[in-house]
Amino acid sequence: MIGRLGKLLISLVVTAMSPSIAVADPGKGLVSITFDDASRAQFDHGLRLAKAHGLVGTLFVPTGLIGDTPAPDAWTMTWDEVRAFLAAGWEIGAHGQSHVRLPDLGPAELLAEVSGSFSDITAQIGVAPESFSSPFGAISDATLDRIMEQYRFHLSWRGHGGRNPRTMFDPRQIGRLEVVNTMTAAEVCGEMVASARDGTWLVLLFHGITESAPGDYEVSARMVDEIFSCAAFLDRRGLIKVATVRDAARMIEAAQ
Ligand SMILES: [Zn+2]
Repeated sequence: MIGRLGKLLISLVVTAMSPSIAVADPGKGLVSITFDDASRAQFDHGLRLAKAHGLVGTLFVPTGLIGDTPAPDAWTMTWDEVRAFLAAGWEIGAHGQSHVRLPDLGPAELLAEVSGSFSDITAQIGVAPESFSSPFGAISDATLDRIMEQYRFHLSWRGHGGRNPRTMFDPRQIGRLEVVNTMTAAEVCGEMVASARDGTWLVLLFHGITESAPGDYEVSARMVDEIFSCAAFLDRRGLIKVATVRDAARMIEAAQ
């Protein structure tokens, strides 16, 4: 059904459904797809591929860099394009206003970045954001305290290898696995199977997506297509549930 990944997927599913795992597994895996930066490429390729596979995720928007119309050199999407993610079932989270390192800011500037992005999103899409991703993954106790006054969930760049244990769920520090161009789609697919096996919550982080040779902080559209194929396949088989950060966190909280 999905070409060259098909064989791999079948073997992974057989592994994930083996009796020894079923005994140890308290429940199926949770997987969340996250996009940081609201780049034009995430709209052009990411949303298209997610829709093609029937998947949703969480888009983290640096609100001060988003316009109503595309500037000639703009690498970010427009507000209409952010609203297209919302219409497709995605969660819209905040990524600050101007994409700066929050720990470097004074209290007034920090408040502006954290609260300003909250009000920008609320005003532009009509839904208050619940999730925040810190630019560059840069955090301090002070920035986390401020963020958690306004938001329910904070996403780190790294942590737990991206597979968050549900029994130690920490809404201040939800770890992510950054998908980079030195990985293969099969490796990322294997992480999803591991999430199904141990019942953890795997949160994937994507930056740039390109149809040409990927540079730093970019992966190929073909790799994203294969990763999404795997996620959709495992979800259909009932081995994982793909959900936005907000919905996955709510499922975990409801089960506690
Ligand atoms: Zn960023």
